[in-house]
Amino acid sequence: MKTFLIIQILIMTGCFKPQSDRYEILRQKMVKSQIEDRGITNSAVLNAMRKVPRHLFIPKEYQSDAYNDYPVPIGYGQTISQPFIVAYMTDVLRPGKKMKALEIGTGSGYQAAVLAEILDTVYSIEIVPELAVESADRLKKLGYNNVICRYGDGYQGWKEHAPFDVIIVTAAAEAIPQPLIDQLAENGKLVIPVGAPSAVQELILVTKRSGKTITKRLTFVRFVPFKRL
Ligand code: SAH
Repeated sequence: MKTFLIIQILIMTGCFKPQSDRYEILRQKMVKSQIEDRGITNSAVLNAMRKVPRHLFIPKEYQSDAYNDYPVPIGYGQTISQPFIVAYMTDVLRPGKKMKALEIGTGSGYQAAVLAEILDTVYSIEIVPELAVESADRLKKLGYNNVICRYGDGYQGWKEHAPFDVIIVTAAAEAIPQPLIDQLAENGKLVIPVGAPSAVQELILVTKRSGKTITKRLTFVRFVPFKRL
């Protein structure tokens, strides 16, 4: 009787919930406290963050940290950005349904998945061969057929699919690569952390208007370095 009661209490308090349900609850909490409460109101961004199973983009040993308020290692010395930074960078790009995006630094594939929930197609380039293979595989398994990945140095962009409505760089560059500016569509937006590696960098937003670029400094961030082949 006693054991039965204890089990009953555990079920009622949610202690026997399957792992996936627990992550679902953590994810909804993350969106509320780390993203909505910090001022992001774009419903497309919030819904994408509510939907993408972030824990499935993270190595098993760090999975319990998936919905916490900090970046998490993804192997090969790289990290998946803190949830708020992913939401913030997505938001400033003002993504729309019919748009085409280019991402430099696929990493785990999480940012690509968030964008893929909102816009039409995401092209993503990753310089670490193992990560390029793993993330492409993961995105495919999760059904993100509108993300096209390739291995390579993103410095040159992806000319065959240009121009892009939005471009997101998720590694810190010393300067904005000119090919990326060239591949930005009219009225397109590019977001990139700029600054020395191993220091605090500045997140820069570039908008293209009548062929000219307008640059806005957004905030300070810390990203892994932009590498060259
Ligand atoms: N957007 C990723 C974040 C990954 S961290 C995510 O959601 O998980 C940044 C990634 O950029 C790393 O995987 C790193 O290997 C990659 N990177 C660094 N320089 C690059 C370059 N020149 N071209 C493509 N990828 C690059």
